[in-house]
Amino acid sequence: MTKTMKTISTLLAVACLLATAPLFAQTDAEREVAARLAGGALIDGKAWDKLAYLTDRIGHRLSGSEGLAKAVTWTAEEFKRDGIPKVWTEEVMVPHWVRGKEAARIVAPVEWDLALLALGGSVGTPEGGITAEVIEVDSLEQLNERKDEVKGKIVLFNKAIEAGFDAKYGYGSAVPMRVVGPSRAARHGAVGMLIRSLGTADFRLPHTGTLRYEDGLPKIPSAAIASEGAELIHRLLASGDPVKVHMELGAKTLPDALSHNVIADIPGREKPEEIVLIGGHLDSWDVGQGAHDDGAGCAIVMEVMRLIQKSGMKPRRTIRAVLFTNEENGLRGGRDYEKRHGHETHVAAIESDSGGAEPVGFGVSAGEGGVAMIEEIASMLEFIDAHRVASRGGGADISPLRVHGVPLMNLRQQSFNYFDYHHTEADTLDKINRQNLNKNVAALAVMTWLLAEREETLPRNEPQEGD
Ligand SMILES: [Zn+2]
Repeated sequence: MTKTMKTISTLLAVACLLATAPLFAQTDAEREVAARLAGGALIDGKAWDKLAYLTDRIGHRLSGSEGLAKAVTWTAEEFKRDGIPKVWTEEVMVPHWVRGKEAARIVAPVEWDLALLALGGSVGTPEGGITAEVIEVDSLEQLNERKDEVKGKIVLFNKAIEAGFDAKYGYGSAVPMRVVGPSRAARHGAVGMLIRSLGTADFRLPHTGTLRYEDGLPKIPSAAIASEGAELIHRLLASGDPVKVHMELGAKTLPDALSHNVIADIPGREKPEEIVLIGGHLDSWDVGQGAHDDGAGCAIVMEVMRLIQKSGMKPRRTIRAVLFTNEENGLRGGRDYEKRHGHETHVAAIESDSGGAEPVGFGVSAGEGGVAMIEEIASMLEFIDAHRVASRGGGADISPLRVHGVPLMNLRQQSFNYFDYHHTEADTLDKINRQNLNKNVAALAVMTWLLAEREETLPRNEPQEGD
């Protein structure tokens, strides 16, 4: 090799190195700590036990319910039992909606019982229920096109969500029908609203969720029906017969109830005023056990705290766990946290709210270079396949922190089956695998520790307007 060739090849080698070199390099010490935390999670993980208590012993946790109040008390005590140095709760007033008795059936041209769940926040029907003809649409746009046919009828939004890896996109794009559909239908004179459940399991399994009535329009009773009923109504209508449905909803909204966010701090040794927040939401819907949504997220976060505390290591910055109240039907917990703590220095906020299946990695919304930093940390998680980083991240409860430019992240789980169970009677502990939960803990523990420990922090976002 000539000298020139040597120089060129050296330069090429350096260029290659630079091209692939991570923005921040992992040190041996960091890898050692990561191994300890991940090992602890995988070998001695207690997340499943925590989740078992939350689901089997406490049960579902709708805002205003006894279950949510018990969950607040129990999780705060559990943090203390795990030795977390600072644990406290903060009062939040939350909506108090109760389902009551409910039933619906097709009464013409055939008789058939519909499996249904009122949408959270729905008004009840008058005593004795309502009976009306059904008009079927597949979107808010189609409702608009057919608005002259709506008066006096029950509007059925009937759009199937594709199961599989893209289910969450299908769910996301269908949610506006559920949230604003009732008022859009009422605007044109509808007397009731039904929606084909926004779920992916066809097992006569209705799937609830929240609605939002628009001020100044009549509030009409609204419910989700299982796919089988929606399909039958579709076939009957397609044959040219008018279809009539009778429905009775006992739902009502009581005065706001007292609830709490549960907060636990492992104070930082050098920069205690800088906070890495990890969180999930403690409330759930009033069906099933809220195991995937979001008992799993709470259990993962609690176990990360226990492991870090047990390790005896003190992070440079404060690590704070927040179990938010009232994500499902109000977001009051997330909003209250921002009001009380938004002025503090959050260097990152990570939410886990997409279930307890195996982790796939993280989502991150941060300033320039943020994704590369997270990719580099996450590369340590390749051994459990939790190293993929999406360049968008966050979660409902931490979204109010956007106004302060806080880098927002989420722990991402595989969501292939998530929408089979989410918001249904079937969201129960048996759907969750202990080792998957442990892997989530390993992933979040390593990420949390390094974000709290490294000298450099994630680049911040431009502060954004709140909603
Ligand atoms: Zn959730």
